[in-house]
Amino acid sequence: NALFGKGRVNSKGFDLADPLTLAEIEAARKPFAGHRWTAAPLIAGDLAPGTSREVHAPANPEDRVGTVQEASPQDIATALDHARPWDAPAATRAEVLRRAAALYEAHFGELFALLAREAGKTLPDAVGELREAVDFLRYYANEADALTTPARGLFTCISPWNFPLAIFTGQISAALAAGNGVLAKPAETTSLIAHRAVQLMHEAGVPRAALQLLPGEGGVVGAALTSDPRIAGVCFTGSTATAQAINRAMADHLPPTAPLIAETGGLNAMVVDSTALPEQVIRDILASAFQSAGQRCSALRMLYVQEDVADGVIDMLKGAMAELRLGDPWHLSTDIGPVIDARAQADIEAHIDTARSEGRLIAQLGRPAQGHVVPPTLLSLPGGIAELTREVFGPVLHVATYKARDLDKVIKAVNAKGYGLTFGMHSRIDDRVQQVCAAIRVGNTYINRNQIGAVVGSQPFGGEGLSGTGPKAGGPHYVSRFTQAPLRRERA
Ligand code: GLU
Repeated sequence: NALFGKGRVNSKGFDLADPLTLAEIEAARKPFAGHRWTAAPLIAGDLAPGTSREVHAPANPEDRVGTVQEASPQDIATALDHARPWDAPAATRAEVLRRAAALYEAHFGELFALLAREAGKTLPDAVGELREAVDFLRYYANEADALTTPARGLFTCISPWNFPLAIFTGQISAALAAGNGVLAKPAETTSLIAHRAVQLMHEAGVPRAALQLLPGEGGVVGAALTSDPRIAGVCFTGSTATAQAINRAMADHLPPTAPLIAETGGLNAMVVDSTALPEQVIRDILASAFQSAGQRCSALRMLYVQEDVADGVIDMLKGAMAELRLGDPWHLSTDIGPVIDARAQADIEAHIDTARSEGRLIAQLGRPAQGHVVPPTLLSLPGGIAELTREVFGPVLHVATYKARDLDKVIKAVNAKGYGLTFGMHSRIDDRVQQVCAAIRVGNTYINRNQIGAVVGSQPFGGEGLSGTGPKAGGPHYVSRFTQAPLRRERA
């Protein structure tokens, strides 16, 4: 693949079908089953006293995972005073990032344990997440070698809890690869993972002044780090509304040249026509809508099935859903873990309750006894995507049928939403697929497969419209956005 460039190697990850590999993982994460981590700001100056809070596992609120000391306003000021771009040569930066990738891989047991207990990730999700994190480190390290433009200065990186290792690491390593200094604000709910990741990056050789961690709330840490004129750019992944608020803060306080690199929400659709292979479709719908408990911005929210095959597809889907096992992500048999916290659970359940009261519930699994688990749910939405008023970030799939002659209208309705992240199409008619691909306006289109899990280097990921600014993460244009525009030499 041309995008991979010289020396590019994706992590091979772990083969979970191999019993020896599973035993190795079990042994490596066992010491961390009852471990309690502690996290505090990692800054280049002295810490001021701060308030601490306890972290509980979303799968089992009695499981105390650790404590986090949040950054005080004083810590934020200290971090900004000590922050420096990373002035090492590009080859050195690349080498250090590669060393960080190796350290991440060496600590897989602890990271899988943290991902399960703090973030509620099942083992396959945790494996995918670690792979993506090390892929980002190595991909952006390779990009550093090829850069011809200088760093911008200091970057604020604000990352989400749904990929607390992969996206957290991706943002930071891109900014660092370009030679910037980074102030990282992790999601409140996954600060322990972020803390461990930054420790490993420091151990690999990233200078403390070039990478500081400030755990805390968006309204405190995020607000301060997006409105200080010393910040040269902001990288953000999260909701569209928050990206818009950051944009306003930046416009008021930062130099007009400061870029916002934002990856935001999605209202992603899949179209299944009457030529699709049902067995494959069902598997891909389940993965797209319910894997990671639906907590991916790429996840399938709105399924369109051609009317002629709809009854059969929905029946098979219900049957396959009934086989899913819900509960504690630590157990290897669990397919679907919890959502991130009680607030997320209540928000998703309110959406389901409204649909139920309107008679639109098609299927829902039973709820396990413990944890913030939302059972995968199928809702009918005859009016299609036009009736979806917001991104419900959980394992909830809406279904509508369409007539073959109305396919154009479906695509128009999807485009009209203004989001543009992922889209899935299942069909064996090439012309139809080509036609839809040409008309649909999204960042990532997936044909006859699931629509999640973009692979660094081969499937650069990111949307357009309300879904983000670009450039795509894990692609060839990303790191250069963290550098200054090339200076043009005019000839006299
Ligand atoms: N890159 C992830 C995927 O392809 C989604 C990232 C996100 O949810 O922010 O599934």
